[in-house]
Amino acid sequence: MKEAETPPEVWERISEAGIRVLRIPTPFQVGRVNTYLLEDEPLTLIDSGPNSGKALDELERQLEALGHGIEDLELLIITHQHIDHLGLVDIVAKRSGAEVAALDKLAPFVENFGADAERDDEEAAALMLRHGISEEVVRALRQVTGSFRAWGSKAHVTRPLHDGEPLELRDRRLEVQHRPGHSPSDTVFWDADRRILIAADHLIKHISSNPLISRPLDGSAERTQALVTYLESLKRTRELPADIVLAGHGEPVTDHVALIDERFRLHQRRAEKLYRLILEEPRTGHELAQSLWGDVAVTQAFLTLSEVIGHVDLLVNSGHVRETDDGKVLRYEATADTSVDQLGDLIPGGNPAVERG
Ligand SMILES: [Zn+2]
Repeated sequence: MKEAETPPEVWERISEAGIRVLRIPTPFQVGRVNTYLLEDEPLTLIDSGPNSGKALDELERQLEALGHGIEDLELLIITHQHIDHLGLVDIVAKRSGAEVAALDKLAPFVENFGADAERDDEEAAALMLRHGISEEVVRALRQVTGSFRAWGSKAHVTRPLHDGEPLELRDRRLEVQHRPGHSPSDTVFWDADRRILIAADHLIKHISSNPLISRPLDGSAERTQALVTYLESLKRTRELPADIVLAGHGEPVTDHVALIDERFRLHQRRAEKLYRLILEEPRTGHELAQSLWGDVAVTQAFLTLSEVIGHVDLLVNSGHVRETDDGKVLRYEATADTSVDQLGDLIPGGNPAVERG
């Protein structure tokens, strides 16, 4: 989908709010990451880009174009745990002496970045094997994940933020709001006076945010239902009277209610599609991913599996599907021969006017 251009008056509002967008390159498919400079006191940078020389050069160059140096930064805020957002924080913090702020629940992850990586990998591998991905593919993917880790970095969080707390700057007050789902640590920053929400990857205009399966931040072993959690978070964001939502990638969102409703429909439809496949015959998560995405289910095995499991969670929670275990792999099967039309709204309270199509 081609992005509609953002009207100049929207950019004016953003600029009047003292917010500058710096687009920093990443080696990932998603392309550049948006970091936001708040020309305020303290001079604040929200997210920093991945840990690479190229990203650092670009950050420096774009700051200079606005009349600032890295050394001038006084506060760095981390929106969530993904490496395209936090990789440079440590380098920038060391060069500038800036404070580093992150959600309290995220702080230990940032401080110990990389230390739990091996455990993360083991759990992801076990999950993939349980859902029918071959050992060969799992082994190959572990190498890829391992090599990606260098784009991240640990950092020392000097200022833990609490959900609901106001973050006061000279010219603004930002309310810290935890909105887990895309990752367990997604944090958005709400400027109620200006009706601007800085949302990072919680809501992106041109792509639906992947509800990636992730280890809970509190270290518990239980798998969280990432999509279910994400949809709950979206409902809360839908309630905000925002005029502009600034995302971690792509253009600003100027009609978040319509966009969120579109996402609810997308997830409902995707769950219905999966249900249709499960109704035909019991299938593993990986078989379902292959039916929907073909070869991408192999090259992006964990991502597509996260998508499948997230949507099947909706079907399991509503009682239409159950998990069976043959001792080796898990399969999903329908609990009754309910037709797709009879599934109803799988996202309770998601949208009062879900269009079927
Ligand atoms: Zn992300």
